[in-house]
Amino acid sequence: ERRSPGESEFLQAVREVLETLEPVLAEHPEFIEAGILDRLVEPERQFVFRVPWTDDQNRVRVNRGIRVQFNSALGPYKGGLRFHPSVNLSVIKFLGFEQIFKNALTSQRIGGGKGGADFDPNGKSDAEVMRFCQSFMTELAHHIGEHTDIPAGDIGVGGREIGYLFGQYRRIMQRYEAGVLTGKGVGWGGAEVRTEATGYGAVFFAEEMLARAGQGIEGRRALVSGSGNVATYAIEKVQQLGGKAITASDSSGYIVDEAGIDLDLLKQVKDVERARISEYAQRRPGSHFVADGTVWDVPAELAFPCATQNELSGANARTLIANGVRAVTEGANMPTMPDAVELFQDAGVLFAPGKAANAGGVATSALEMSQNAARSRWDRDKSESRLHGIMRDVHETTFAASERYGKPGDYVLGANSAAFVTVAQAMLAQGVI
Ligand code: NDP
Repeated sequence: ERRSPGESEFLQAVREVLETLEPVLAEHPEFIEAGILDRLVEPERQFVFRVPWTDDQNRVRVNRGIRVQFNSALGPYKGGLRFHPSVNLSVIKFLGFEQIFKNALTSQRIGGGKGGADFDPNGKSDAEVMRFCQSFMTELAHHIGEHTDIPAGDIGVGGREIGYLFGQYRRIMQRYEAGVLTGKGVGWGGAEVRTEATGYGAVFFAEEMLARAGQGIEGRRALVSGSGNVATYAIEKVQQLGGKAITASDSSGYIVDEAGIDLDLLKQVKDVERARISEYAQRRPGSHFVADGTVWDVPAELAFPCATQNELSGANARTLIANGVRAVTEGANMPTMPDAVELFQDAGVLFAPGKAANAGGVATSALEMSQNAARSRWDRDKSESRLHGIMRDVHETTFAASERYGKPGDYVLGANSAAFVTVAQAMLAQGVI
């Protein structure tokens, strides 16, 4: 806390992990002696830089760019870029810290990093987004590389932005280094199913968690928050598995569609037209838009927070529990506030933390890196079945660790302890660096 004053999101993420590690540290005093915890909470390196660009009126605009290279004990830094006005060092450090553990759970030999800028792509023209991405990459290019640090997308950074960023990297460095960014278009080095992977993966995780408890997704109503990359494909996979996803949201409000979300319309409104979510309700008979409150007010058995951090409060958790929710699976990073997590666990609601449940995105990014290195390209079936297998393994690993440390089914304990031991052992073996 002394070193990171005011970094509330980062401190929240660190506290959440450290609080669960007591039984692990009791078994491994060598981790304490080697100062693993002190080293783990301090990024190996971080960059903060100016991003100047000109808007369509030829006015000069300035944003702040950040890249935090948090931990490379398991492999090169890997983690997304977020473009959103709320981005600051605390947010990027929290995401980078989470990323270390998430990446460890995928078994793909990647370290943890994260970056972004306080740039808001909402309402910007394509040309403005391109100029911003080019300026951002002009600085970032000197700090990344396929063996060093491999960024990907996150909030506000999708296929369009990755394209512009990659183009500028290629131009500045004068080489085609496909593995330097993931989330590329499938026609130029991207992996099949990467776009869908985080959302699909979260639903695969939920399926495993429910199956272990003798339940399933089929016939269940599901609440999904957000309407971006993760939310869209969580909705798609819920529908494919016979569940009914009935909500989606953005920062202006949410929609309820009791007949089940019409995915083509959602993609058209949010992805193609980049319009507000209320547009969906205007075009879809039987659905409605709500400007106040959250999707958590709607009764359903399954919940998938897929928008942003701290979007599900203790009060929301009480409503969900009163409405009979059975499982909450985090598609977003840290969307559930600490008091809400406790309420779910006390009420016996299955709870899957993001660092396990949303690991499918980065895992598929690692598969994209493998394909780039081998100059190969897998088909859709192979890509999805590898993702499915990885999510099954992540579930198995986290559940096994929850049992090992005395609380079977506590996936928060399971994810934190399994990931921590993997990273700590690698750090221990590599000496004090
Ligand atoms: P997108 O930018 O595609 O979508 C984000 C969605 O969340 C939008 O609907 C956005 O609405 C909404 N949102 C963002 N910030 C806020 C806010 N402050 N209040 C209310 N709504 C908000 O991002 P992704 O789908 O990629 O990311 C969503 C979450 O998933 C993030 O937590 C991210 O870190 C996490 N994640 C993403 C991965 C990926 O592969 N993309 C991998 C693992 C985790 P609006 O348009 O109005 O801003």
